[in-house]
Order: sequence, then C-alpha cells, then structure tokens
Amino acid sequence: MATLAPTRTLSPIQTALLVTIGTGLLAAILVFAVVGSWPFAAGFLGIGLVVGGGVVAWRLLSPAQATERRALDWDFTRVVADTSDDAIAVTDRAGRLVCANDAYEALFPGSPTPPGLPLDGEGVAALTQAGRVAWRDGLGRADRLLANGVRVSALVTRAGDEADMLVWRFVVAVEQDLAQMVEALIAGKDGDRFGAAGIMAAVVGPDGRVRAANRVLAARALGRAEDSIAGRDFARFLITDSRGLLRFEREGLDGSPLRLIQVPFVEGDGAPMLVALIDEEEDAAPAIGASATQHVRTLVALMPFGMALVDRDGRFLQMNDAFMRAAGVNAAAPPLYPGDLVVREDKGAVADAIRRFAGGATHSADMAVRLKDHPDEPVALTIAGARGLGDASVLLSLKDNSEESRLKREVAQATKMQAVGQLAGGVAHDFNNILTAIIGHCDLMMMRHSPGDSDYDDIQQIRSNSNRAAALTRQLLAFSRQQTLRPQVLQLPDVVSEVSNLLKRLMGETVRLDVSHGRNLGPVRADPGQLEQVIVNLAVNARDAIVQANGPSGGTLTIQTRSISADDVRAMASDILPVGDYTALIVSDTGAGIPADVLPKIFEPFFTTKELGKGTGLGLSTVYGIVKQSGGWIFADSRPGQGATFSIYLPIHAAPAAPQPKPLSSRAPTRPADLWGTGTVLLVEDEEMVRAVAERALTRQGYTVKAAEHGEAALEMLAAMDKPDLLISDVVMPTMDGPTMVRQVRLRYPDLPVLFMSGYAEEQLRRSIDIDNVAFLPKPFSVQQLAEATRAVLLQQGTGGSANS
Ligand code: ADP
Repeated sequence: MATLAPTRTLSPIQTALLVTIGTGLLAAILVFAVVGSWPFAAGFLGIGLVVGGGVVAWRLLSPAQATERRALDWDFTRVVADTSDDAIAVTDRAGRLVCANDAYEALFPGSPTPPGLPLDGEGVAALTQAGRVAWRDGLGRADRLLANGVRVSALVTRAGDEADMLVWRFVVAVEQDLAQMVEALIAGKDGDRFGAAGIMAAVVGPDGRVRAANRVLAARALGRAEDSIAGRDFARFLITDSRGLLRFEREGLDGSPLRLIQVPFVEGDGAPMLVALIDEEEDAAPAIGASATQHVRTLVALMPFGMALVDRDGRFLQMNDAFMRAAGVNAAAPPLYPGDLVVREDKGAVADAIRRFAGGATHSADMAVRLKDHPDEPVALTIAGARGLGDASVLLSLKDNSEESRLKREVAQATKMQAVGQLAGGVAHDFNNILTAIIGHCDLMMMRHSPGDSDYDDIQQIRSNSNRAAALTRQLLAFSRQQTLRPQVLQLPDVVSEVSNLLKRLMGETVRLDVSHGRNLGPVRADPGQLEQVIVNLAVNARDAIVQANGPSGGTLTIQTRSISADDVRAMASDILPVGDYTALIVSDTGAGIPADVLPKIFEPFFTTKELGKGTGLGLSTVYGIVKQSGGWIFADSRPGQGATFSIYLPIHAAPAAPQPKPLSSRAPTRPADLWGTGTVLLVEDEEMVRAVAERALTRQGYTVKAAEHGEAALEMLAAMDKPDLLISDVVMPTMDGPTMVRQVRLRYPDLPVLFMSGYAEEQLRRSIDIDNVAFLPKPFSVQQLAEATRAVLLQQGTGGSANS
C-alpha cells in the first residue's frame, strides 16, 4: 500500500477530553486499588473530571497550546487493508489521495484520486454524491458503477480521529463474481460433467447472446464442439413445432425435443441467465419426468454457489453443499423448511416470500436474513420462482460468506485492540507525569523529615502507594506496547526454568505442573523479565480456572515449548501468523475453559469475569502487549469444559547475541552523598508539576538550574546564557518538541550532553529520534533516580569535573 501522508495529529480538544475521561477513570481505579473503597474512588473520579474539565476549558481558551503529535500507524493500516481483496483508497480533508492499496491500483491504473475516476455513465456524479453523504453522515454508497468494464459498488466512510479522512472502498459486485464463476465452470471441465449427465448448459446475457456454453451444447447447436459459440444469438439455435415442443434448428423437426430450464442465478434486469437444455422423452407430459428431475438435481449439486430447491408447499427438496455450508446446516439433521434456518424474527418474511414465488411470481428477489447460525451478520438470500423444474417451484441461493465475515471480525478485533491500546498508552503517559510530581514531592518532603517524625510515616505511605500506581501504569504501557523492554537473545526453556519454582508455589498443592520442551528450539529475542511475567500471568489465570472448575480435586497446568518451522506455519493455513520460523510457548490448563462470547474480549484491559477484588483484567492485556512488542503472536483457544490453551509464537532470532547495556535506572544504587554535583543544567519540560519537582531536586543536589517550558523558550534562554553543562529535556512538548530543539542546540554546542526524560519506551524513542549521544530516564522517576541519571551522564561525557567525585 502506498503511504503518502506519514502523520496525523489529535485535535487539542480530543486529546484533552480523552485525557480528562481517561485520567479520571484511571485515577478512580488506582484509588480503588490503593484504598479499596468505591465511594472514595467515585469521589476521586468526580474531582478528576472537574479538574479535567477545567483543563479542557483552559485548552479551549488557549489555542497556542498545541497538544502532542502521535503518529498514525500506517503499518497497521496496511496490514488491515491487505486482508481485503477490495480496492481501497484514502483521501484527506483537502481531497488529496493519501493512501491506496494494490487492488486499487489494479482496478484504477495510475491511482487517480476519487471521486474523479474513470467510470462509465453517471458514475463520477454518483461517487461524488456518495463522498458528500459520507462527509455529512459518516457513510455514503454508490452501486452499479462500471469501472473499466468491471461492475463495482463503492462504500465511502468518514474516518480518522478528527473525522478528516474518507476511506473509499470498491467492492467488485458479487453478481459479477458469480456470473464469471458460472461462465468459467460451464465452459470448462465441469461443463463436460454436465454434458455427461445429459445437460446442455449455457450462460446467456441480457441481450440474448451466449456468453459461455458447454461442449455438448455447442456440438448440438453448431454441429462441431470446437466452433465458437460465444456471442451468438441463443434463440436462433432453437425452433418450436406446432405442439410447442422445442428443438435445435440444426437437427430439424426430426431431432429430439428439448426441455428448457432457465435459472436466474443473479438479481437484476441486466443480469445473465443460466439456461439448461435437457432432451425430453417424446411423449412427455408438460411437467418433466423423474429422469429430468434427476438432471436438475445434478445441476444443483454441481453449482459452486449455495443453491436449494423448495417445493410448492415450501419444503426443502434439495440443497447443495455450498448452501449447507453457508447456512450452517447440520447434514445429519437437515431442516424441513427454509424458515427453520433463520432467526425467529425473519421466519415470517421468508415463508411469505417463498409462498409468493411458489404461487407464480417469476422474477427473483434478494432479501437480507439473519441465519440462526450467525445472527449478527445478515446474509443475502436470493429467491426465484422456478419453472420447468418438476416438483421444485422455488429456487434459493445463498452466498457462503463465512470466510469473509470471519476476516471482518478479526480485523474489527485488531482495530479495537489498537484503539484501546492507544487510549491506554495516552492515559498512562499523562499519569506518569502526575506520578513523577507526586513521587518527587514525597521525596523532597522525606528529605526534610526524619524517620521518627509524625508526618514521616504518612509521606512514606503516599510514596509507596504512588509506586503501586506506577506499577499499574507500567502494565497499561505494557498493553499499549510502549513500555521500555530490555530484549536479549535467549532460549525459552531457560526462561521457563527460571520461573518454575515460583510457579510451583503459586499453583499450590492441587494443581500439577507439567513442563516439556521441544527439540531444536531456535533462540528468540525478548526481555526475559517480561517473558517471566507472561508465563506467571498465564499460569495464575490457569490456576484460577482449574480451581473454579474442579475445586480441591485440582488439575494440570501444562507448559510446552516447541519449534515451529515455516512449513508448519504453512500447514496451519493461518490468515494471521506470517510464514516464518518460530519458537512457540504453549500454556494449557484443564480448567473451566473460556466461553465463546468471552473469548474475543479477554485481551482487553480491565476485562475480567472474576468477582470484585479478585481480578484486575490487566493480566492478559499485559501478556498481549509484551508478546506484540516482542514481535510475536498470541492465540487463545478454548472449548467450555475442556480448558484453555494460550499459544505464543516468537520469531526465531538469527543474528548473534549482543551484550546488553544496563539501564541507568537499574544500576546499583549510589550513596546519596555521591550524587552531589555542580554546574548548570538547562531543564526543559512542559508539564509544570514535573518541571517544578525536577528543578527543586536538581537545585538540591547542587546544580544551577535554568528551567524552560518548551523547546523555543529553551533556545531563547540558551542564546542569552553561557554554555550549560547538561541539557535535560522532555521529548513530547508543544510548539517545539525535545528532539527538534536538541538538533538545533547541537548546531551550536555539538558535544552538549543530553538527557531525555519520557514516559514512552526508550527503544521506541531511540528509533524515532535518531540523535547520537543521548541518555534516557523513564518516567515516573524519583529524586534519587534523577540525581543518579544526571550524574551518570555528566561523568560519561567526560565533564565529570562538574560532578563531585
Ligand atoms: P483477570 O485475571 O484479572 O480477570 P486477565 O486479563 O488475566 O484478567 O483475564 C481476563 C479474563 O479472561 C478472566 O477474567 C477470565 O474470564 C478469562 N481467562 C483468562 N485465562 C483463562 C483460563 N486459562 N481459563 C479460563 N478463563 C480464562
């Protein structure tokens, strides 16, 4: 997919509203987690919303305060678009084409911008109108467009956070697909099988000309099977005698009489028709005999689309395999009436339509029905009156779209996870700033109090609860794949053995732990600590499910590792897992299993079926985030009563292991006295609460601090002062972000040491920033961590003179 527009921004108001609601909710949840009282949490939520409302109002009144930019995930968009065979294009507010997939390029060579496409007749006008409707109502549609001879329908959807894009989707009309499929079938080998069954078949266009015919028909009509019959007038091949019997003109009145059957297999006036000719016994009565009925049955059975025959009383006579599949019919107990296939509300309409067509209506009609098998997605049932088909008086056809709807469901699920992840990430990011301020102020207060003081314990309490909140925020960041991972090249069995002691303790006495490892496992690249977290979270859920199902009689938790080759993946025929070599971690249990209606939701944050206080709903979302951020895939399978299986596929890492640098924040703690320093620090941070705390903390450590609220202010300040010893900056800031400012500063002071502080993952930032020689400090941080990081950077840069050694 061509990506022409790399970024988009959230509007200030949207961001502020998201943050208000998200932060309020998260605050309430965190308060509940900490204090354990819902009324208290609700109060907190109220206050959060009021304060947040203030922030929104303030942001509305001060347009200069641009909010942070977030990159639109075009990779993700491409993956989603690639799952569709439809031609898809995206245009922006100004009507520019920003994206188009390969199918679009194939349908409209040169990728012209919609609505100005090469369409026949009034196509462009209809498409323009659909675009207008989409801007106004969110969704527009134009049917029966003809693009380079292909009949398409266009669906136009307004999209984007600011509703500032249009997604144009062109679906090749089903009728066209079907018509082409039937033509190919008749002209090909299947046509010969019809011939062997005594059926001459042709697809005849609305102009009466033959589009395709099987060889028997060509042979009988033209005398030679090899002669091209396509394009000839079908009626010219036939004559009628005085008794109304039909014969081939070429065979004359001595030829055998024919029975003509017309099957309108697609809707519409301009649609082609399937015509079958069967030799009739000379003395046949007007209704066809048993042998002819057999012919019709063969015809129905061979059709590639769902087809069924219904008799005059509305009872099924026959349904082909495709119909059974599409309607979800159990072959062992087929239904008696078509009404039995659909939900109760649609029964009446189906029965009425069948009665109408059985009673003589000849045209065909499409109706949307909801099948009992999958009531959420209406399907199109085509009903036609059948003439000359013996007992059959109504013909039903149904498209098997189960594959299509499964794909749609998967895409919807992936989109939802992405949206929730973005929201969770944004909330966690803002919360990290707040926590940095709370923790910082606690640290500063604790420095003024000694352990015996009356306030000391209270401050300690606030601090330790803030740390718990920080841990929860980390889980949210893990889910939104924005946490700082420390990946290493490792072998999965090592990780499993590392946690197995902990697991045994967690499982208790009744749950047996069964571990087995596959052979020839390839190494994977992941953060070992995070993988342990994955295993523990899955195991704890498994234990809960086993206890829920079996109580004290217990069950088994099985952990397996397995090598999965590219061939294995191909054999799995998965639409999701890309072909490649993986090492799999499979965790299964003999617990209660996961009901089908719960299964699609389990990875969402805060989704839990456990009673209040027992589940946070963050366990599996953390697992999901870690697996995804490690480049892997996770699948959950379960049948109620038969336990659950979680399969994680991590791609094999081919490159040799590189030594991992230790993060600043996890270095061995330094004695406070070692952290004193001197020199000037230029501190740039847009969040006032964080700036105030950091400024006080650094001043306390002995540094001279100049503080600026964004990049531009920092540049002005820098122009008016001597060279500072260190620049500490936030990454995402309004007007000018941290990296842009640093690039400009480095023009003047190429060797100025830089320390970035951010709530986003270091790896991700390093990838997007691309500036040499910078250090990172993850938010939230304590006063001690800030002091350590500052000193470490100054020492590392060789400007150690400004830090006390
Ligand atoms: P929590 O465990 O706090 O509820 P999770 O995100 O870990 O949150 O799990 C979400 C839900 O998924 C659980 O509440 C449970 O309904 C379901 N679930 C997860 N693992 C299993 C399992 N092994 N067996 C049955 N249900 C499970």
